[in-house]
Amino acid sequence: MSSVRCNNLLEWYGKKARKLPWRETSDLYHIWISEIMLQQTQVKTVLPRYSNWFEKFPDIASLASAPIDELLKSWEGLGYYRRARFIHRAARIIVSEHSGVFPESFNAIMALPGIGRSTAGAIASFSFGQPTPVLDGNVKRVLKRWHGSPETGDRQLWTWAQNAIDVSGNPADWNQAMMELGATICSSRRPDCAHCPVSWNCSSAFQPVEPCTTKKTAVKHAHWQVTLYTCPTRGIWLTRRPDSGIWASLWTPPIIELASPPEEKPCHIHMLTHRKLHLYGDLSNLSPSGEGQWFSSLESVALPTGIHRLLEKYGVAS
Ligand code: SF4
Repeated sequence: MSSVRCNNLLEWYGKKARKLPWRETSDLYHIWISEIMLQQTQVKTVLPRYSNWFEKFPDIASLASAPIDELLKSWEGLGYYRRARFIHRAARIIVSEHSGVFPESFNAIMALPGIGRSTAGAIASFSFGQPTPVLDGNVKRVLKRWHGSPETGDRQLWTWAQNAIDVSGNPADWNQAMMELGATICSSRRPDCAHCPVSWNCSSAFQPVEPCTTKKTAVKHAHWQVTLYTCPTRGIWLTRRPDSGIWASLWTPPIIELASPPEEKPCHIHMLTHRKLHLYGDLSNLSPSGEGQWFSSLESVALPTGIHRLLEKYGVAS
């Protein structure tokens, strides 16, 4: 990849890139949190949570000392709550093994929970200008099209990504530009080649998009009865979900998985990546049994979005 190619893309990025708060900082803590939030989550969903996060947890020490429930509460709406638990574990490792300072070596960054090669590459390049490539889904698509090779595997893609960043002369902006190009111009279904800064030497420019070869994973349906034990003086009874599986570690009313769909319609349907949860609310003023506790306010309790919606439908304050 020649430096001429690089200049085109970098120039375009300088002029057209969206202004995003994590692009305005070289602070490691801020970049780390933004990169984890942006995994599998859209920018518009991340933006409000990103600023709120730092009001709640201004530094890594405050994060490490906070109870996990506080992190989960701040993570509400972002989904994939595993990421919040990884952040918590990583913050504790940074405090205990790195004196509270985010590590600067690529290998030490990658050793932290929840950080793979691509995320470590993003952090190291944005913070220290290291020539470490990012290879997320958007960048993979751009590289494959650019090289006219839709079947290329990850090993080759990493090589191409590394070669490109080595000649770019600006690893941080290069990574950002590749991600921005994939997110805004070279979209999976409708690449806008007419406005693409690399169309003049892209092997796939103005060609029909490649057929989708990835097999669609069948969506599974689950039918859950959600019992809403409420009490005028004590509030609502919630139990904590197990540490793994759907909505791990979050609080919900007691849930029973039904073997078959009941005759009534679900009160709320919540979509996960490969699963459709049909939620059937069941108001009860009986005494709950089993593990759990009463909550008179849900302000500081981390609940899944699907449960928030269900409670709203029942007029239960959340
Ligand atoms: S020219 Fe078209 S296919 Fe090639 S990178 Fe640009 S948008 Fe994607």
